Amino acid sequence: MTLEDHIKRRIATQGPMRLDEYMTTCLLHPTLGYYTTRRPFGQDGDFTTAPEISQMFGELIGLALAQCWLDQGAPAPFTLAELGPGRGTLMADALRACARVRGFVQAAQVVLVEASPALRGTQNQTLAPHPAHWVERCEDLPDQPLFVIANEFFDALPIRQFLRAGDQWCERQVGLKDDRLIFGLAPALPKPMLNDRLADTVDGDLIETSAGAAPVVSELARRISAHGGAALIIDYGDWRTTGDSFQAVKAHQHADPLADPGLADLTAHVDFEILAQAAAPCLHSRPTPQGVFLERLGITARAQSLAKTLSAEALQNHIAAHRRLTHPQEMGNLFKVMGLYPPGQTAPPGVEP
Ligand code: SAH
Repeated sequence: MTLEDHIKRRIATQGPMRLDEYMTTCLLHPTLGYYTTRRPFGQDGDFTTAPEISQMFGELIGLALAQCWLDQGAPAPFTLAELGPGRGTLMADALRACARVRGFVQAAQVVLVEASPALRGTQNQTLAPHPAHWVERCEDLPDQPLFVIANEFFDALPIRQFLRAGDQWCERQVGLKDDRLIFGLAPALPKPMLNDRLADTVDGDLIETSAGAAPVVSELARRISAHGGAALIIDYGDWRTTGDSFQAVKAHQHADPLADPGLADLTAHVDFEILAQAAAPCLHSRPTPQGVFLERLGITARAQSLAKTLSAEALQNHIAAHRRLTHPQEMGNLFKVMGLYPPGQTAPPGVEP
């Protein structure tokens, strides 16, 4: 059975599906889901992420976390974690760069939070011979100082969408018509959890809530505030978003999110306000544009030093990669970085406190 058949049967027997269930089924179905079955990354895959564009990304993020670790008195042992590590490239680059920070790699227990068994295998190969272990959920992270990175993780977490109708809300759902998957709307209902959005929206506006994000941030924040540590959360999105950002990407092109369940990546923009609200008792920085963040961490100096070892096509690719990560018209502005840190400590380097 295809995933599309499975979803159609589920809707035919139990009625329309909320978007969070549709997203979770498409991305993480145990045998037919996108992340469980596909190799999404790189030229031959569906999309490219910052650590796959240049080694500089993981190096600078690793060093930023190492600086936080030094600022907090170099606690040992500590958890060095990544949420949704993809191919493991970012963590490998971070560990290589941080080998020069005395004691850091020795004190680090690397833990990868990854739902896909296939990607765990890839991550294991990328990180070898460095020891790592895997957990499926943030609840299972050890209770000790936690320095953690999440790049393009939160955009993969399930969302719900609501269309404002007067002072009530219609939830957007996936239904069936003539054996095709279609979007539809549930009847309007009052939604007390959305009361604070009545002030900044009007009739007909569509808003998104992230069903999965807040519990993840709370788990991280609890450990960071109790034991020390920091989080760097990097993703496309902004502060308090309005509008439909649910999207599918397949073979580097935008696609219809209902067209190929399980065969395309599904994401939504991240509303950093939702993450910030879940961060207490940790402090959080403002969402800082990725380009500004990387420049403050010294990406230009690193790019110039790497350029000395390159020529011809490799040099051109390197220059293009630097531009792609930082330029406001490429990833520099769309992607934001938010830092979480314990009360009484300084914010991670590069972010606006
Ligand atoms: N951070 C990587 C990959 C981003 S893609 C990079 O920058 O290249 C999203 C990653 O999150 C994948 O590894 C995917 O398998 C994982 N993932 C998605 N939903 C998840 C969930 N609910 N729990 C754990 N991992 C998840």
